[in-house]
Amino acid sequence: MSAPSIITIDGPAGAGKSTLGELLARRLGYLFFDTGVMYRALAWAVLRHSINPEDDEAVAALVRRLDIQVHPPGDATDGRLYTVLVNGVDVTWELRHPEVERIVSITARHPAVRAILRDRQRAIGQRGRVVMVGRDIGSIVMPDAPLKIYLDASVDERARRRTNEIRQRGGSADLQHIRNEIIRRDSLDRHVSAPATDACIIVSDGLSPDQVVDLVVSRIDCDPDDSQDTRAYDRAETSDPAGT
Ligand code: C5P
Repeated sequence: MSAPSIITIDGPAGAGKSTLGELLARRLGYLFFDTGVMYRALAWAVLRHSINPEDDEAVAALVRRLDIQVHPPGDATDGRLYTVLVNGVDVTWELRHPEVERIVSITARHPAVRAILRDRQRAIGQRGRVVMVGRDIGSIVMPDAPLKIYLDASVDERARRRTNEIRQRGGSADLQHIRNEIIRRDSLDRHVSAPATDACIIVSDGLSPDQVVDLVVSRIDCDPDDSQDTRAYDRAETSDPAGT
């Protein structure tokens, strides 16, 4: 079967969705679109304008006038997967700041905000040849997508990967603190996460990013009923853990 023109990848924080999405998009020659950056860009703007992230009307008014653009990384050599511009300002790395992570799930949960950002995401997804990553893409944003992945990993694995990522970029990171943050965000994101019932589930503990891509490519026409087989594959084929 030829590659489906829209592939969605949903899952919790730190499951490896962006890495998988980027590798998969590169292999297929598709656009990689990480919808989380839109919510992060909004959270960044909320901080910048000193808006209360709980104030749904103020946050919705802000998102309406926010121009968020996501471009391929171009010639950048700093490890970025994309460049994010908010009203023309490059905020790519600022979106990873702990302050943004602290409030992003709060700004993301307002229904009016989600409606606006989902429309923008849908407009991009409908162009096709795209790998879209997020929390609600397969179920709500692009429910007709022909291939939906739900990528999961244990809290310990996700915390370890995040810690390694930050350290590899030269930052300092405390494993326990990051683990607590992931648990906190999981709990807040429960309100916005809506895994599609027809998604193929992949549990990526112990798999390298390339192994996860191979798994998706080999199951490009996978049946959701195969998801348990996929978990069995995970356990059997484990070798080089992702992010190490
Ligand atoms: O995926 P990432 O960690 O960058 O997402 C940041 C936050 O944006 C999530 O914790 C979640 O609150 C929100 N988000 C969302 N819906 C999406 C993508 C992200 O609510 N489709």
